[in-house]
Amino acid sequence: MDSFLKKSARLFKTIFYYQADTTDNIDNKWDKLPTVSEYIVQYPEHSDAANETIKCRFCSSSNIKFQPLMHSRDRREKHFCGACKRTLYKSFADV
Ligand SMILES: [Zn+2]
Repeated sequence: MDSFLKKSARLFKTIFYYQADTTDNIDNKWDKLPTVSEYIVQYPEHSDAANETIKCRFCSSSNIKFQPLMHSRDRREKHFCGACKRTLYKSFADV
């Protein structure tokens, strides 16, 4: 019985692991990201609004890249650091 419970727990974890990147989860993560202007307000030491330069708040790299969130026609874009690959903020594509 004890080992059955352990197996069940492991299976349960596996299921959650594979659900970790469902569409809902990606949406939620994106929702929680700051916008560009919020990022500048939150991390003024890593951005210069006057010069429109934004740096990574983790490694201070100015090599910021962006990509559509889910697919090429997704207007939601996530911006991430090209150096340390961490997601920094979000924006909407102008289409
Ligand atoms: Zn970085």
